[in-house]
Amino acid sequence: MIRIYNTLTRKKEEFKPLEEGKVKMYVCGLTVQDRPHIGHIRASITADILKRYFEYSGFDVTLITNFTDIDDKLIEKEKETGEDFRSIARRIIDEYFENADKLNIKRADFFPEATKHIQEIQELVSRLIEKGFAYVSGGNVYYDVSKFSGYGKLSGKKLEDLRVGARVEPDETKRNPVDFVVWKGAKPGEPWWESPWGRGRPGWHIECSAMSMHYLGETFDIHGGGADLMFPHHENEIAQSEGATGKPFARYWVHNGRLNLSGEKMSKSIGNVVLISDILKTYKPDVVRLYLLSTHYRSPLEYYEDRLKEQEGGYERLRQVLFLISQTEGEEGELNKETIDKFKEAMDDDFNTPKALSAIYSYTKDIFETMKKGPDTKWILSAKKTLKEMLSVLGLFESEEDHEKKDDDLIDLLLTIRSDIREKKLYELSDKIRDGLKKLNIEIEDTDEGSRWKRE
Ligand SMILES: [Zn+2]
Repeated sequence: MIRIYNTLTRKKEEFKPLEEGKVKMYVCGLTVQDRPHIGHIRASITADILKRYFEYSGFDVTLITNFTDIDDKLIEKEKETGEDFRSIARRIIDEYFENADKLNIKRADFFPEATKHIQEIQELVSRLIEKGFAYVSGGNVYYDVSKFSGYGKLSGKKLEDLRVGARVEPDETKRNPVDFVVWKGAKPGEPWWESPWGRGRPGWHIECSAMSMHYLGETFDIHGGGADLMFPHHENEIAQSEGATGKPFARYWVHNGRLNLSGEKMSKSIGNVVLISDILKTYKPDVVRLYLLSTHYRSPLEYYEDRLKEQEGGYERLRQVLFLISQTEGEEGELNKETIDKFKEAMDDDFNTPKALSAIYSYTKDIFETMKKGPDTKWILSAKKTLKEMLSVLGLFESEEDHEKKDDDLIDLLLTIRSDIREKKLYELSDKIRDGLKKLNIEIEDTDEGSRWKRE
């Protein structure tokens, strides 16, 4: 049984899917005006862990992650740099994928972009106007917050308090300062799409309502994103979706904690940003994963490079034990139930990855100790299966294996070529291959049945 902390109820609840065996999940992705930093990656890894663990637990998961590829900040960037907003967006989306792939983040089922869903967005705006939840004013369409009685239920904010604190921009024509824009009229020189309310573009909140319901249905299981999106973004998504459909929107709201640098949220405008591509120049992807997973996803995390560096110790220990057990060959072992149970218990409890990792590390210790005592093939084969299974649920050491497999294939290929060379009696060349491989700690043994190789 998976228990999950639901921001909407402020409780850990047993996860019960809407449809047996299925999880439908939407997670807010990047606004693609600035290059991806470690804070963005924290949100992606959180979604990745949920997806992986639900799948491991037998669920069929549909994950949608959007890219906000049109908004005020992107337009500003276009004005600043002269680069077309579409080209800025494309460049940053590519950079995101390049790094996310390195980090072994499973791809979502769809990555919708706002500019490709203008029709769904406009349909939703029309529905809101028809139902009296939205109004047209000065070329914009605003959501009338006073019409939605549930406003504030996610963030716990009270409408009265919000009214007092709200600021109105001079060019806004709202009925009420708390109202927010769902369709924004275009100013001269800005990108626009035709609409029944004049040329303009979607507001930020409306795209997530429109795209999540388009892919997952009007009610779905999980909506995720960074804790800083809870208000106003997610609060407004609820108001829009539930206003339009009259049905509950997302049933579980999952928020990952902020990743701060020098006490503040990472943000390009403050200049306290650590780019993921810079981190990956120095650190292995699995070290970054271990770093992020060693803190519970809901806890805020202050970024210190020392903490990241510290993970190299754990990474090295895991790598060594994996190498040691890989030397024992035989039929696939059985899972060590006691260890797997501990791991599952941690993950079932709101995806407690620090606890799951400590189950893994303590098992690693057992493995080292058992191996010191002497060969116990059956136990080691079971350990091999158990450890790999747990690591793979956390997305760890999977790419490593790929590399090793590729190396193995290459060595096999080299040996095949070498045997052809030997048949042609080009011994000098064949010895050159053997000596070269020896320098890489790979030893070739020539037998009557052909050549074999092993790592030293
Ligand atoms: Zn969103």
